[in-house]
Amino acid sequence: MVPHGSFISYLSLDFIEQDFNVPLVGNKYLFKWESDRTLERRWLEDAGIPFPRVYDTPGEIDGPAIVKLFGAKGGQGYFVANSSRDFHERAGNLEGGYQIQEYIIGVPLYFHFFYSPLSDELELLSIDKRYESNIDGIGRIPAADQPALGIRPSYTVVGNFPVVVRESLLEQVFDIGERVVAASRTISPKGLIGPFCLETICTSDMEIVTFEISARIVAGTNPFVPSSPYTYFKYGKDISCGRRIAMEIRDALATESMEEVTT
Ligand code: AMP
Repeated sequence: MVPHGSFISYLSLDFIEQDFNVPLVGNKYLFKWESDRTLERRWLEDAGIPFPRVYDTPGEIDGPAIVKLFGAKGGQGYFVANSSRDFHERAGNLEGGYQIQEYIIGVPLYFHFFYSPLSDELELLSIDKRYESNIDGIGRIPAADQPALGIRPSYTVVGNFPVVVRESLLEQVFDIGERVVAASRTISPKGLIGPFCLETICTSDMEIVTFEISARIVAGTNPFVPSSPYTYFKYGKDISCGRRIAMEIRDALATESMEEVTT
């Protein structure tokens, strides 16, 4: 398993898939699917879980939309638009491509899962929300002063907070996680292995809408060193994401099953 998202950007996907002879805990063949927004969308569709509508052209925008630049680092340069006109006023010169998604109104929740092929069990390790500039700072400016300042919201990730969700949401959380794991096996036979993350918005109707999949460890697990409430309740001791991976490797070695947890 590649330790951090940013690490992937230093290596070409071809290099990871073909030339990297060291076995990785995880499924390296899924990286292509998480890094390409069109493929990722197909994965979400196959999973049959709620995801934001995608507007194929700016002319289709008929409600709140978020414009995501391809290759953007941590939400930098994203903007919101309410109509086609609004889009063209804000877009400027968009080089390198973009995707326009329905903007889901609710709160962000990032679920850190771990799928163990050895026990065939999906675990919820932890949950975070990100601290994004400047969107998370806009509420600090009185609403009456905001229009005069002409603020353009942006979504640049600068940190992560731990979250514990209402218990009644957990059934839905495991359901979407299991569906994403099942769909991953139609993409690459071994499917998801080990840590992965679903990036979601939870609406006021308690519907969890997934807008992104990360098929690897995410930085949002960092606040959970050495442990999270979820892993502590499951294991009765401190377990971080890194330690959970180490446990899987140890179990695979003990049962001569390394093939099952690596690609
Ligand atoms: P991303 O680069 O896709 O992880 O998105 C960066 C940030 O933009 C997220 O952490 C959310 O705050 C916000 N965001 C992304 N997609 C949506 C969406 N469809 N609706 C509402 N907010 C979103």
